[in-house]
Amino acid sequence: MTSRAATPPDSETTVPLVNYLVLGDTPHLIAQECQTCQARYFGRRSGCACCGGDTFTEVPVATEGTVTAYSIVEVAAPGVEVPFVSAVVDCAGTTVRANLVDVAPDPVHVRLGMPVRLTTYPLGVDGYGVQAIGFGFVPAKVGK
Ligand SMILES: [Zn+2]
Repeated sequence: MTSRAATPPDSETTVPLVNYLVLGDTPHLIAQECQTCQARYFGRRSGCACCGGDTFTEVPVATEGTVTAYSIVEVAAPGVEVPFVSAVVDCAGTTVRANLVDVAPDPVHVRLGMPVRLTTYPLGVDGYGVQAIGFGFVPAKVGK
């Protein structure tokens, strides 16, 4: 077997799909927290939808949470594999919308209140060899 010098993913060849996903040894999400009312948002904001405040602080979001709502998506745009689970996850008080991965997309395996943790996965490589990384949640192992 010939070996081509395998280069591990690094910041030059790997980019997060969204700018509020931080990669590295411990991938996590970054929220914009309103300094006035502490409402949290993902992505850039010019004003707070709750209080109208316009000053935000970046805060790391807990990587573990519980499913508070979900929907099993059976129909999606062409090219999107179905079914998949779209979920709302409460991460220590911060609401995160993401897909559940590594779980069977049915109500037997997905339930409200189930503990989950953040995960990242490659979405594909563009023409420049840059790998996009997305995030989702996987069921957390309970009891250990
Ligand atoms: Zn606010």
